[in-house]
Amino acid sequence: MASRIRNILTMEPTEQTVTVEGWVKTKRDSKNLTFLEITDGSSFRGIQVIVDHDAEGTFDHLDAATTGSSVRIKGKLVASPGKNQSVEVQATQVDIIGEAPADSYPLQKKRHSFEFLREIAHLRPRTNTFGAVTRVRNALSFAIHRFFQEQGFMYIHTPIISASDCEGAGEMFQVTTLPMEKLPTQDGAVDYSRDFFGKQASLTVSGQLEAEIYALAMRDVYTFGPTFRAENSNTSRHLAEFWMIEPEMAFCTLEGDMELAEEFIKYILKYVLDHCPEDMDFFSKWIEKGVKESIQQVVDSKFQHVTYSKAVELLEKADRSFEYPIGWGEDLQSEHERYLTEEVFKGPVIVTDYPKEIKAFYMKLNEDNKTVRAMDVLVPRLGEIIGGSEREDHYDTLLKRIEEMNLNPEDYWWYLDLRRYGSVPHSGFGLGFERLVQYVTGMHNIRDVIPFPRTVKNAEF
Ligand code: ATP
Ligand code: MN
Repeated sequence: MASRIRNILTMEPTEQTVTVEGWVKTKRDSKNLTFLEITDGSSFRGIQVIVDHDAEGTFDHLDAATTGSSVRIKGKLVASPGKNQSVEVQATQVDIIGEAPADSYPLQKKRHSFEFLREIAHLRPRTNTFGAVTRVRNALSFAIHRFFQEQGFMYIHTPIISASDCEGAGEMFQVTTLPMEKLPTQDGAVDYSRDFFGKQASLTVSGQLEAEIYALAMRDVYTFGPTFRAENSNTSRHLAEFWMIEPEMAFCTLEGDMELAEEFIKYILKYVLDHCPEDMDFFSKWIEKGVKESIQQVVDSKFQHVTYSKAVELLEKADRSFEYPIGWGEDLQSEHERYLTEEVFKGPVIVTDYPKEIKAFYMKLNEDNKTVRAMDVLVPRLGEIIGGSEREDHYDTLLKRIEEMNLNPEDYWWYLDLRRYGSVPHSGFGLGFERLVQYVTGMHNIRDVIPFPRTVKNAEF
């Protein structure tokens, strides 16, 4: 097997024979020489190949070595006199494996718009930007698993099809085998008892409730899987199919949750800086000025803590106006979050103890009966990156909260059971994976950080 270009680029050049396999990125001809840049996705840089037409070797069909064609090249690895690379290959044999006719291949040298590239999602991984996004996304995925595995967390596969009626129904995709043209009905309503699961089912919007089940047996667990939301909104931050990371820890209060979130964020950001330096340089130069430095600052920082009530006070005192008014009881909008982290705390900050009315029913009620043990981690440039909480672990309080929110306790029988049998303080948080990739790369549209985005009216690839 030929080496990946990433490995060849780090070899000591001793005129040894190497085989380069990949796709032609650029081709330049001078009198007797042809310069090819070959890439294979393994690194940001390609490798330079020089074909000397007078040298001994087989260079048939060199004309067909156009941008996008696939090639196998044998040659000698030598030190490069050029300042852009330390090694290059002097070709002794060039084989064209698959042509890419220049008159029809859509990815020519000039820069293409991201909108155009979305229409050719089958070719966009070959561009600099999408190559870099793909490598960073891969590094982040690996770092996330590595972090939790090193800490002894169990990876739990929570279901993708969910038949419990627990979640916010409005945003869910229904899963059914009922014939759409002729739905069975009973008393004028669809008869779901004749559906595949004997009841209504949907694609999951979160794995948290199921993760709690496993946390109350395995102690520390995490999920990292696909989630689905039928968001009918055309924003640069929402997908219909995205990935979510949700750790859940038993014998853990909000303080432990905050500690883990800080350690986790720093670990995965540092991993990317250490393992994808060239990709990060590219993003910092061409996509979002200074993104690399801003990531480094988070790694080096100490996360500060502030309660929601105090944060609202700070916002009310701010000598500037916001588009959305703020007052106790209002949810923080991203302009408020950014003001807090960028202007007030000048670094990451964790906001805790939100009013119960603006948070989910399962968050643990404080003694004041007004706020819950929630925490949002805010970072500069973005605002909220993580949302989490200590979960309500008292049966009576949880039941009361479910009733207060006009939810049906019967739908939550197993969730309530966890508070009847061996209940224990437990906490966790959620992180949207694509939002994280956006934050790390500075990419402006979430459709450009997932290989095949699913959004309203769009699922071509
Ligand atoms: P938002 O207000 O941005 O729609 P949310 O409050 O609906 O987010 P949660 O229910 O808390 O989000 O989901 C947890 C995390 O999942 C969010 O913090 C975010 O990172 C991510 N997320 C939520 N909805 C989407 C989506 N449609 N596409 C991509 N990521 C999402
Ligand atoms: Mn939402």
